[in-house]
Formats: sequence, structure tokens, C-alpha cells
Amino acid sequence: MNHTVPAFANDWIVLKFGGSSVSKRSRWDTIGTLMRRRAEQEDARVLVVVSALSGVTNALQAMIDGHHDMPSLRQQAEALVERHAGMAIELGLDVEPVLGARFAALRALAVDPRSASAELPWQAELMAQGELLSSTLGVAYLRTQGIALEWWDARESLRAIEQPNASEWAQHLSVSCDFMGPLARERLLAKPERFALTQGFIARAADGDGTAVLGRGGSDTSAAYFGALLKARRVEIWTDVPGMFSANPRQVPDARLLSRLDFAEAQEIATTGAKVLHPRCLTPCREAGVPMWIRDTENPDLAGTVIDGQAATVAGVKAISARRGIVLVSMETIGMWQQVGFLAEVFGCFKTHGLSVDLIGSSETNVTVSLDPSDNLVSTNVLEALCRDLERICRVKVIAPCAAITLVGRGMRSRLHRLTEVLAAFGRERVHLISQSSNDLNLTFVVDEALADGLLPTLHALLIESNAMPIDETAVFGPSWRELGVPRPPRVAWWQAERARLIQLAGRGTPTYAYHLPTVRERARQLKALEAVDRAHYALKANPHPAILRALEAEGLGFECVSLAEVEQVFEVLPGLDPKRILFTPSFAPRLEFERAFALGVHVTLDNPALLIGWPEVFRGRELTLRVDPGFGSGHHDKVRTGGKEAKFGMPLDETVAAAASAKALGTRVTGLHAHIGSGIFDANHWREVYARLASVADAIGTVERIDVGGGIGIPYQPESEPFDMAAFDAMLAEMKAVFPQYALWIEPGRFLVAEAGVLLTRVTSTMHKQGVRRVGLDAGMNALLRPALYNAWHGIVNLSRFDEPPGEPAEVVGPICETGDVLGRRRRLPDATSEGDVVLIADAGAYGQVMASRYNLRALPAEEILE
Ligand code: ADP
Ligand code: ASP
Ligand code: MG
Repeated sequence: MNHTVPAFANDWIVLKFGGSSVSKRSRWDTIGTLMRRRAEQEDARVLVVVSALSGVTNALQAMIDGHHDMPSLRQQAEALVERHAGMAIELGLDVEPVLGARFAALRALAVDPRSASAELPWQAELMAQGELLSSTLGVAYLRTQGIALEWWDARESLRAIEQPNASEWAQHLSVSCDFMGPLARERLLAKPERFALTQGFIARAADGDGTAVLGRGGSDTSAAYFGALLKARRVEIWTDVPGMFSANPRQVPDARLLSRLDFAEAQEIATTGAKVLHPRCLTPCREAGVPMWIRDTENPDLAGTVIDGQAATVAGVKAISARRGIVLVSMETIGMWQQVGFLAEVFGCFKTHGLSVDLIGSSETNVTVSLDPSDNLVSTNVLEALCRDLERICRVKVIAPCAAITLVGRGMRSRLHRLTEVLAAFGRERVHLISQSSNDLNLTFVVDEALADGLLPTLHALLIESNAMPIDETAVFGPSWRELGVPRPPRVAWWQAERARLIQLAGRGTPTYAYHLPTVRERARQLKALEAVDRAHYALKANPHPAILRALEAEGLGFECVSLAEVEQVFEVLPGLDPKRILFTPSFAPRLEFERAFALGVHVTLDNPALLIGWPEVFRGRELTLRVDPGFGSGHHDKVRTGGKEAKFGMPLDETVAAAASAKALGTRVTGLHAHIGSGIFDANHWREVYARLASVADAIGTVERIDVGGGIGIPYQPESEPFDMAAFDAMLAEMKAVFPQYALWIEPGRFLVAEAGVLLTRVTSTMHKQGVRRVGLDAGMNALLRPALYNAWHGIVNLSRFDEPPGEPAEVVGPICETGDVLGRRRRLPDATSEGDVVLIADAGAYGQVMASRYNLRALPAEEILE
């Protein structure tokens, strides 16, 4: 043994804490406790690896995305300074002495001339600031708590390796490091302290002294590198879930904890989409023989997942994962398929553009490959360049966005016959590609992205809950997420307390829509409580019922209309309403509608700049809002995404300034910019992006007073889905407003205000069993509620007459329309006794219900009732 180092020198435990694990003082106390416990009870030295505070890496990424605008870069840097100063105060630290130098570095990067062209080394250095700040805060705080620890600069130990085939982008922003380096190991072991803390995510660049980062989520991999270098006893990944589960527990609450996994399985689950581990973190630990644990910082005593080389191999499906944002490139032969070297040429094109191919499917005439969603793919036009190259040798089609759904487990090949039901579940949808790997660990289906969320719980129920591929349960699975009690209790809908009244209403005739005004008001108040929002409008295309319009007017909302008839409906229901509370945002509407709308004095939005040239007299001397296509869309189904090249809405971002100039030439003032990217969105970052893109052109126009980021707020249709996170939305909007305080911020949700307030009351007409399929027939189908047939939408379906009876056999719930697609829901567990005359409620049908209903098959439209 080397005498210059203490006795515990070779015995390390590495603890890694993710963003949410370092963003509160109580979590830092947990970190301190865990460090002490590991040192005292296991006589180990402890290295802590930390992520940036949650949301900070996103904020740094947003600075990079808006790099052209230096004043805004400075404001964004100040917002980050504020955030960290706030955290320092929460931790009881003096801000300046602890963070002053770090703040100076961040501010300098915001005014760095390299920002103008977003040079890659500048991007990497900026991205690294989050971890540099959080690690500095952590060391200072833990010292105040009596832990003597050293701050290590991760860049002294981790150096990126040169990868000749990787893109320039990847060599700065998604690097891999050398983790076997004996020099680095010796340097680390020679350090005398028992405790140290360092940054995840960052490393020394391969080409010199600069900084590089490991790719989003890469702190896990930093911890694994350190674990391998130190030959640690283990690496513990501390996060916001108690382990790796059989599916993302936030989407599938019945997901089971995976108590024990081998490295190969964990690798497969991580690579195929489970964000809980960064896919590159397993190799270092596997090669160095270092076990990994996954634990929950909020519940440190829960057992979690252990990954090591000793896990018993058990056959069967262990996990279902999904990756979104997959791009498929389908290449159709033009007669050269069997020609030697053809595929080499095709793949050469991918290599040239630095794109790595993941899945491959091929036939005589077609090769289809999938590309991983890398930041690179979305932030550059590499895909267009690739297609241009490929078009020289074959016909190319890009299919996106897709999702890859993967079943992970051993020995699937010999059990394919057990997958009949799974194939049936997929069979109803379009599967673009199926791939089975020769390591027999993975079976992947690529489908349209919008289908993935709905399929996951179904597949999980089929494969894991029902034990279709029997597994020696106890060796693999721990309790479910639901059993661990981590999820919030299921939400109680208003109609549960109103059952008797609803059954009485149904007695007057079905189908009937019932709208609960107190719920409408409650949602309106949630919007009014958003501090960052200056004006909220109701997009009445979701439901133009007069009682709803009156209720929302009384709550102070404005109205967003997409046709002249909607504008007229508002004035008819609310005579005397100030026209300035109405927005008119038509799509390919006839000229007459524009003329009338201007005459009525409402705000008019234009989304086709050609109309300024075609109908100059309509627009001359007016005030106008421009509808911009920010270049991307989002939403629960591709039919409701309203941005991007595929969608008919809005003028491209780069044509907006020219459109404003054409308007100006007519004496028309462009006072607003508007975008609406789609519907049923949960991730607030979409609106951040919309806002940033609109603001980037608003300045150039000069006369813009307001930015309208549209609607699209999602509602939780499935019982366990998380409701929309209003607080996160408000915080994000507030952040954007702080950056662009010169603009008023408007929004215009539709679905959010009314969906949950409405239910469709129907009656069972008859039931049937046909070749093993149970069907429950209702007197309302796609004629009354089109969403399931049109969008594969999921709605709760409940037998009100037998509310307290236990769930029965899975059934398909169908309507009376002569169409095979007339299905309101599949695999619904209505009580077995369900029979003719029972009142069945379809939940969350207040938006896009009655207004999309039709008289198809000459069935009457549903009635409508209001509940106060
Ligand atoms: P951290 O910030 O601590 O690194 P991440 O957000 O990167 O945490 O990873 C944890 C998240 O991974 C969980 O909150 C969960 O939503 C998601 N996740 C996805 N799939 C799985 C899975 N199969 N098991 C556990 N968590 C999963
Ligand atoms: N902070 C980085 C990110 O958010 C790395 C990490 O947290 O793992 O991507
Ligand atoms: Mg992570």
C-alpha cells in the first residue's frame, strides 16, 4: 500500500444526484446524511457527482437557441444569476463570496463574441455553467454542515476521446470519455480528502483545454466514469423515482419496480428510452465491474434497483420502453437493389452527415432505417442535406415524428407465439417497422408518435400485469409504483358526486351532453391566476354553447373565433360585448369574412401574406395580427398539430418581417404576433420555444405590442395521467416575460376550459360476445363523439347504473353507426352484468363533442343540458 494516502484510499462509493435532487435545501441535507452514512457504516471515501439545478440546463439551451440576440442573452444570464442567488439564500450562504466568480463567468459568456455564430466551444462552455454553479453551491453548503469536502473540477479527470466519425457537434456537445486512463486514476487516488464533490455532464474537450459536455442527461455517465476510474465499490444514481421500472411509472402507474437487473438488460432499457439512466453510463461500470444502484432522494429508504453482473438471467418481458422523436427514412429502390455496394453507398451518406442509424428493416425494394432523436437532428438542417444526397440514388421518404416502442427481456424469440394479443394491439394501428435484435433482448415496433402514449398502458397490462410471458416474479419484480404509494391519489371527477342527478337527466332521453358550469369556472380561474398572462381568451371552437360563453365572459375571459359564424355567435349570446375582447383567426376563410370582421371591430389575424397583395383594399389602414408558423407543431395526434411544414397554418417565421413590410405599405399596423402549434400539449417548454421564436421577429417588425402563444393546454384524459402543471407553465411564461417585458402576453386555450366539464350520457342498447370479443353497444357512437374514431382519443367510460360493481371482462364499447371504426373505447372493464338500458357516461367530452357531432346515418344530434 502507498503510505502517502490514507487507509480508505481505494474504497470509494460514488453518489450521483440529479437536478431535482439538488434543487431544495432538504435534499442537500439528505445528500449530507448519505455521505456521512456511507463513510461511517461502510468505511468508504465518498465522491458526490451533481447535476445542475432542475431546469437550468434547459435555460442554458434556450440561450443557445436564441444566441443571435445579445440583449436577451444578457437578460437570460441575469435570470440564472437570480435563480442561483435565491438558492444560495435558501441554503443560508453569502451570495457574493460563494458565487461571485461563477456569476462573472456566466455574464462574460452572455456577451462573448463567439455567441454571434453560436460556436460549438462557446455552447459547451455555456452548457457547463449549470453544473459548475450547482457544485459550487453544494460544497459551500455541506461545509457549513460540518462535512470537510473538496471541490473537484471534473475536467481534470475526464477527457473526451477523439471520435473521427462523430459530427463536430457531437465532439463538443455529446462526448464520450476515457475511463480507463491510469493517469487520471492515480491523480484521483492521490487526493487526500475523504469526501469530494464534482460536476456531472462536463469534461475536458478532446482537442485542447476547452470544455465539452456529455450530452443531455449525461451526469449519470460522469458518475459511471468516476466509478470506473476509482474502481469504486458501487455507483449510486439518486433521482426522483425509486428505481428503474418495467415502464415509465409516470405514464404507467402499474409499472413494477425492477429490483435486480444485469448490465445488458439495464443497457437495453436505458437505450430504448427509460430516461432514468443515461444510455452511456452502463458500459464503464460493466467493464470495471462496478455495480450500480438507483435510488429515490425523496424516499431514501426505499430499496430501488441494483444492476450488477450477478443478476440471475430469467426469461420473459421485463420492461416496455418508448422513445419519441424518432425519424424514419424510407428508401425505395430504383432498380439497383442487388447491385454490389448499393447499401454501402446509402450508409456512406448517413456517415457523411454524422447520423447514426439505429433500427433497420429491409425488403427487396425498400430499406427503412430509424435515426435517433439527437439534438443535432432538430437543431440543424442535416436531414434535408441527407435527403438531397440520398435522392441521387433512391426515392426517399421521411416519416416523422414516430415513436419506437420496445419490449425488453431475454428469450423473446422463442416466445413470439405468446405475443398474439400484443400484435393485435398494434395491428389496429400502422406499424412502420418491426425489428428484433440478434442478442434476443429486444423487440421494437415503430409507430406514429401520437399513438405511443395510448399503447403503453395497454401493452404493459397485456405483457407484465397479466404475466403473458411468465417470469419468476420475485427474482425480478418489486412492488408497483402504485403500491409504493408514490403517485398522487386518482383525481375525483365532479360527476362522481352527481351520479343520481345524471341518471335522472338520462331519463329524459339519451344521448345527452351535460356541462357542469362550476368546473368551467374553476378552469377559468386557474387561467386568471397565471401571473405572467395579460389576457386569456376562450377558443370557442371547442364548445360554443351559450351558457358556457356567458359563464366565461363573467369570469373576464375574451374569445377566440375561427369563423365569422363564431364571431356572430359571441355577439348574439353577449350583445354589447367590447369587440376588442374578440380575436378572429380564420384559416382559408372567404374574403367576405375578413371584411365583416373588420367592420365589427374585432382583432383580425392574417396567416397568409399573399392576401395583402391579393385583397389590398380589405386590409388597407387596418390593425392586424400575423399568424406565424414557428416551424414545428405538437399535440396528442398528428391531426391536431398546427405548426410545421405539414400544417396549413401560419406564415413561415422567416417570411414574417416581409409580410409586416407589405402590411406597412398599405398603411396597416402589425400590432400582434400569434402562433398556435397544436392541442393536448403537456410540456411547457413548447411554449417557451414558441415565445422565443415569435419574440425574435417581433423586434424586427417594431410595431408589435403583444405576443399570443395560442392554446393547446392538455387535459388528463386517462385516470392516472398527471394534470397540466400550471405552476411550471406560469414560471416558464414569467421567465420569458422577464426577457421580453415589452410585449403583452396573450393565450387562448379551448379544450382546457371545457373538456372536463362535459360528459356524454348514453344508454346500453345491447351486448354481444363474438369469437372471444365482448362488445357493449351504446346509443351514441362516432356520430355523437368523433374523437375516438378520428384521433384514437381515450375517454373514460363508466357504467353509472352499476358504478359500485367490480370491473368485468375487457370489452369493446361500440356505437350504433354502420362503420367498423365506430368504437368509443377498447378493453374497457365495464361490470359483467352491464346490459340494455344501463346509463353509461363518457367522460371529459365537453370539448370537441357536440360541436363535431353529425347526423350520420340520420341519427339525431345529442341533446345538451347545463348543470349549475
Ligand atoms: P435526474 O434529473 O435525476 O437525472 P431524470 O429525469 O433524468 O432524473 O430521470 C428520472 C425520470 O426517468 C423519472 O422521473 C421518470 O419519469 C423517467 N423514466 C422513464 N422511464 C423510466 C423507467 N422505466 N423507470 C423509471 N423511471 C423512468
Ligand atoms: N444537467 C444536464 C442535463 O440536464 C445533465 C444531467 O442532469 O444529467 O441534461
Ligand atoms: Mg438524468
